[in-house]
Amino acid sequence: MSEEAARFLNGPHRAFIKGAFTDEGAGEAIAVHDPATGRVIAEVPEYGAAGVEAAVVAARAALEGPWSRMRPADREKLILDLANAIEADGALLAELETLENGKSVGIARGLSVGGSVEWLRYFAGWATKIEGSSYDTSIAVPPGSHHFSATIKEPVGVVAAIVPWNFPLLMGIWKIAPALACGCTVILKPAEETPLTALRLAEIAARVGLPEGVLNIITGRGSVTGAALTAHPGVDKITFTGSTEVGQMIGRKALDTMTRFTLELGGKSPMIICADADQGQEPLMAGLGMFFNQGQVCTSASRLLIEKSVYDRTLEGLAGVADSMTLGSGLDPKAQINPLVSARHRNRVNGFIERAEAAGARRICGARTLPEGGYFVAPTIFDGVSSEMEIVQEEVFGPVVAAMPFTDLDEAIRLANDSRYGLAASIWTRDLNKAFHASRALKAGTVWVNSHNTVDANAPFGGYKQSGIGREHGRAALDAYLESKTVIIRYS
Ligand code: NAD
Repeated sequence: MSEEAARFLNGPHRAFIKGAFTDEGAGEAIAVHDPATGRVIAEVPEYGAAGVEAAVVAARAALEGPWSRMRPADREKLILDLANAIEADGALLAELETLENGKSVGIARGLSVGGSVEWLRYFAGWATKIEGSSYDTSIAVPPGSHHFSATIKEPVGVVAAIVPWNFPLLMGIWKIAPALACGCTVILKPAEETPLTALRLAEIAARVGLPEGVLNIITGRGSVTGAALTAHPGVDKITFTGSTEVGQMIGRKALDTMTRFTLELGGKSPMIICADADQGQEPLMAGLGMFFNQGQVCTSASRLLIEKSVYDRTLEGLAGVADSMTLGSGLDPKAQINPLVSARHRNRVNGFIERAEAAGARRICGARTLPEGGYFVAPTIFDGVSSEMEIVQEEVFGPVVAAMPFTDLDEAIRLANDSRYGLAASIWTRDLNKAFHASRALKAGTVWVNSHNTVDANAPFGGYKQSGIGREHGRAALDAYLESKTVIIRYS
């Protein structure tokens, strides 16, 4: 571990409210574990109703104060400053994300930090391009009068952003970047397992001079801090990424006060491999699609649908790749599979594996000796499964995949759509007709062709069915952070 990381871990760690770190409302300390060793590396306080109240008051004051009067071009400049400062701090941010989450430091640097910088730069540009429309009207009340109408886009207000632990920094930035571009203020609550990158982000925000109250960060468990935040009447918008169960709960409660909400939820994404797919792609399919970030990706390919004529060969290839992947700490550049985020999550994933075996599924890889100390699960593929099995229907959120054969594309699409989720899907084929047909027929927010898990700041992202409501990224993300006001003007 670097000296800088060790110094940061020592703390003290406190919430970031109104531009300063504060103990106000701090409750019991929550331990942060290094998933590679199981050791406690930091303690972060939990904030309850009092901390949430302070954060909401600060965010409201900023919203109604200088932030709302700031020129969009100046907001753009501040968002760009934040991107540059994150980039400059990249090595430490990536190391902290590896220490709190377990993931490869290469992925943390490239995707979590690199992606955060990219998303901020992309959305900074939108700050000066938010626009409404104008309309000719047919109104003639009173008779003979003329009207002109236009829409004005206004920030939705104080945004509560609640994010999971799988890409703690990036998930936060996916919400902060468009929210700030639209002129909102934000209260970010990271997952209790991974609060460190968010607290480092707070230091960076203070350093670049983001006005006080524009970004506030409070820590604690979902059932305490998250629940207090989402129930607060001063929150205008909840943007949540996490499990479908918690998302449903948040959505139901938000309706009581008509608090706006966007939900990015779970998935059980199919990867369809046709017989005519390019051969030799198993390392890409496994490394990028199935086991990337230990399968702790909402769009992870967790259901494999393979055309019958190449089923055995493809599955053998994929199992070979899975069993050859090196397990180890995220700080070890040779390790391809790192520990899962927590002991609790590792136990949960192992529960799915045990129940799948008990239900008669055949484990064709993944039974091997694991490194000691950390929360490891070897990449695992199940064969001999059927549609109604838990392993086919429920999100595991780990390196565990269920494989099924199909005879033609219609059957593949039927199996792919046989899920309460609809976040993403991929099809691997050289036949453009199949690719187009599947792209239209799959009930998923994103469909990849000959790829999986690739995302872009410009490409809308979100779920069909129980995978969510709303879209992030691209122009579509702005709708989540804007209200539309119609102004109708009578003139003579
Ligand atoms: P989770 O739902 O348990 O927690 C997510 C966040 O919600 C955490 O910050 C948690 O503290 C908070 N939370 C929990 N209970 C709460 C409550 N009652 N009120 C308010 N906040 C509460 O999910 P997780 O285990 O952290 O993450 C894994 C899940 O996230 C998976 O289902 C995965 O698919 C999903 N995910 C979705 C996307 C997407 O973009 N669709 C991206 C990443 C992860």
